[in-house]
Amino acid sequence: MALTGVEIFKLLPKTNCKKCGFPTCLAFAMKLAQRQASIDLCPDVSEEAKQKLGEASAPPVRPITFGVGDKSIKMGEETVLFRHDKRFVNPCAFALEIKDTLSEKDIRDRIEQVLNSEMERVGQKLRVDAVALMNDSHDTSRFEILAKTIFQNAPDIPVIICSENPSSAETAVKLFADRKPILYGANLENAEAFANIAKTYKTILGVKGNNLDELSSLTEKVKSLGVQDIVIDSGARKAKDILRDNTFIRRAAIKKNFKPLGYPIITFAQREYSLVEALIGTIGIAKYSSIIVFSSIEKWKNLALFTLRQNIYTDPQVPMQVEQKIYKIGEPTTTSPLLITTNFSLTYFIVSGEIENSKVPSYLAVIDSEGLSVLTAWAAGKFTAAKIAQFIKDTEVEKIINHRELIIPGYVAILSGAIEDKLEGWKVIVGPREANGLPAFLRSKL
Ligand code: SF4
Repeated sequence: MALTGVEIFKLLPKTNCKKCGFPTCLAFAMKLAQRQASIDLCPDVSEEAKQKLGEASAPPVRPITFGVGDKSIKMGEETVLFRHDKRFVNPCAFALEIKDTLSEKDIRDRIEQVLNSEMERVGQKLRVDAVALMNDSHDTSRFEILAKTIFQNAPDIPVIICSENPSSAETAVKLFADRKPILYGANLENAEAFANIAKTYKTILGVKGNNLDELSSLTEKVKSLGVQDIVIDSGARKAKDILRDNTFIRRAAIKKNFKPLGYPIITFAQREYSLVEALIGTIGIAKYSSIIVFSSIEKWKNLALFTLRQNIYTDPQVPMQVEQKIYKIGEPTTTSPLLITTNFSLTYFIVSGEIENSKVPSYLAVIDSEGLSVLTAWAAGKFTAAKIAQFIKDTEVEKIINHRELIIPGYVAILSGAIEDKLEGWKVIVGPREANGLPAFLRSKL
């Protein structure tokens, strides 16, 4: 049962020392009750209180890491229903299904598709994260061949082993035991056998119910058998059922602290028609799936789904930013132009794109404006002559160019004199107001 803020407050030291980052113990207690803070932030809380508070402060959706190494996937840990309340924590992972009925060539082709799926968008690397091994043949030896092929050719990709046959499942799980796979396929009939395999090989267990009641009983059952890390599937496959069940699961976990449904959700989106599959995927991304399994990963579909995922899992209150530094566009030399702009992602990508279009290799200095665009940053005092001058000095750009000319955005032409005052020996050139004027501007300058 969740504790109220006042009940939590009674367990805290009540010294209002602020070490937790909150002004009072009561403020901290309220945040704990909303699961928007961790009890670890208070260094003075007693062990006894910590134990009592464990339940109250634990995330309502169990945090689980799937896979190992750089490509491992964090799931769960969500604390809210809506991203305007608080940023969603762990983006849902995409997995491509690979059936054991495919030829070896087709299996290898699909592995290649996953390995080559990475693309960069607004500074983030996005990719298909996992593969789902499907035991469609119901044949243990064929499933083993599939598992071995994936094991050898995709050594660091997280895997979901999908089979309802304990013997097939164990054959594949043995291979991937060191890679923290998901063993998916536990149901009412085989729950005990699957729980034993999951415990033996320390895998995450995927359980499937035929409805939410059955799913809740199943998670309780496998938990009583000693399995803690669980992903859940309500059995929903139609769009409206996925939306309904996923929403119900998240609401039950967050609003009611209903532990039997407090686990990451796996959604199977496979469809014959790729566009329909993409639409099912969008429901899972927007509404609470932690993993979505697809039957194909065409580039157009990846781009659409990656973009949606990126948008849903960014903080709407914090603009997307790129790193403050000097970027090389093309292969600039010591005589190449030097331009400056702010670190709002959209600004950076539009400006750098237009410089690329100009075919004039250049340096682009990007200053930290806390993610604000040029005019807003100027108005907010984050893109001032003093800051620009200091940034140019700090970058030591003088070591890589043999001229002293800085091109500033036309919208802040007013800063040119003040920058020249603060940057001795430099000439400030006012560039175009809009980025789309850069190609003509840079070519004429050349
Ligand atoms: S660190 Fe602990 S004692 Fe100090 S204000 Fe926060 S909750 Fe209270």
